[in-house]
Amino acid sequence: MVLPNNITLKQGKLIIFSAPSGAGKTTIVKHLLGKYPDKIAFSISATTRTQRGQEVNNHDYYFISTPSFLHKVAKHEFVEFEEVYAGTFYGTLKSEIERIWATGKHVIFDIDVEGGLRLKKKFEQNALAIFVQPPSIEVLQQRLVGRGTDSKEKLAERFAKAEKELSYAPQFDTVLNNFDLEIACKQAEDLLLEFLG
Ligand code: 5GP
Repeated sequence: MVLPNNITLKQGKLIIFSAPSGAGKTTIVKHLLGKYPDKIAFSISATTRTQRGQEVNNHDYYFISTPSFLHKVAKHEFVEFEEVYAGTFYGTLKSEIERIWATGKHVIFDIDVEGGLRLKKKFEQNALAIFVQPPSIEVLQQRLVGRGTDSKEKLAERFAKAEKELSYAPQFDTVLNNFDLEIACKQAEDLLLEFLG
């Protein structure tokens, strides 16, 4: 497996969960990590956003400053990155994928829709890209409001992005309906096991 700066990695697989915020992908990813800790490990993204609620640095995200993020961009340290919201960057470090593959595990991602598609394009058949489909845009909006973690402005930004992202579903390998969380988790297990073989 050759990454853009020609680092050769011990090859593993990538399981990508993408969806608009509030579709339930984080819950599904956490479920899989709890069930298969010896097979998969979570790709910790770097971000410039501020830490929220119970989040832990170096566990949920690598929380870094904007200058530090941009320095890493200039040094081509990211396999993909994006300004997900105006002024707020998120990205996957090449070193993160290397770190996990070196342990003999596969990498599982909780990543936005465009980032997910970029990873799929890069890793092709070594990646399974799953789009988590919420029951409706209304339910999605209710969930985001219910979280109580975002300001009105941030919520409006997340709603607008979510509407656009829902239209990307057909570009994924699989669409996983999250109308019932228990069923969705079971289907995610089946998809994972089938892909890992
Ligand atoms: P949140 O601020 O809610 O943690 O994340 C906002 C969005 O950024 C979510 O859709 C999340 O999946 C996405 N995200 C997290 N890490 C990455 C990453 O490394 N790259 C990209 N493109 N998006 C990410």
